[in-house]
Amino acid sequence: MFDLKNRKALVTGGSRGIGKGIAISLAKAGADVVVNYYSKVEEAEAVVSEIKKLGRQSYAVKADVSIREEVVKMVNEMTEKWGEINILINNAGLLGAAPFTEMTEEEWQRVLNVNVNGYFHVAQEVAKQMVAQKKDGRIINIASIASGQIGIGTPMSVHYGTSKGAIVAFSESLAGELAPYGINVNAIAPGLIETDMVAGFTSNKTVLDSFIARTPKKRAGQPEDIGYAAVYLASDEADYVTGTVLYVDGGYLAV
Ligand code: NAP
Repeated sequence: MFDLKNRKALVTGGSRGIGKGIAISLAKAGADVVVNYYSKVEEAEAVVSEIKKLGRQSYAVKADVSIREEVVKMVNEMTEKWGEINILINNAGLLGAAPFTEMTEEEWQRVLNVNVNGYFHVAQEVAKQMVAQKKDGRIINIASIASGQIGIGTPMSVHYGTSKGAIVAFSESLAGELAPYGINVNAIAPGLIETDMVAGFTSNKTVLDSFIARTPKKRAGQPEDIGYAAVYLASDEADYVTGTVLYVDGGYLAV
């Protein structure tokens, strides 16, 4: 079950945190994985080494997902090297913090450029390739419990909450359009996962304890919790699952 042998996966922001957890989970399930990163080459190369130790192919590629040309180059390189792309994990993202009335145009644009335009660039370039391959494909977008709808709002990070809400709508809309090509599109909405992005919360014991107290599973999430969800959505067994949001939050939104 959940065998991803010979599948070729691209994980954006795979050098650290959730992306790293997903990249390694996919490799453990049999996939070969391209690890995209923005600036942290050593971290990205360490993930590549870990994947190679599992007996899978891997390499790291630097690309800013908010810049179309860099994404085109990354996707073309992967297609030339490996022939095809079967799984895309759109994960690279930024959090920002600023009171709304003081938020600058630049702060707003930077978060939206990476968290929304970046997902658009990578999904579009990969979708072109997947459609041309005439094979089943999987696009998995990492949203958040901060996506709105049934999720939580993000005071002091309105740009971030806005971007994650957009990714849920993006995933639903794209799912309908790509289903005729055998491409499933879903979102995963993580709760609080211990990574660098949220170190400001998790390093504060009072904040972390109050979060855990409110979470039915009584712990913070780890990157591999999201990795397991991604393996499922990438698998053949998830063939009938598209256009949905899988919340992986320890029950946080359920209470
Ligand atoms: P993280 O630890 O800060 O890692 C961010 C990753 O994104 C890094 O690999 C980074 O590359 C990459 N990245 C940043 N900007 C990029 C760009 N412009 N182009 C390409 N790559 C870029 O964050 P994380 O917590 O793992 O978050 C991953 C995703 O999960 C994000 O979309 C985030 O919104 C979402 N999420 C996180 C949580 C949480 O609690 N952690 C909860 C819900 C959703 P470098 O290493 O090279 O800098």
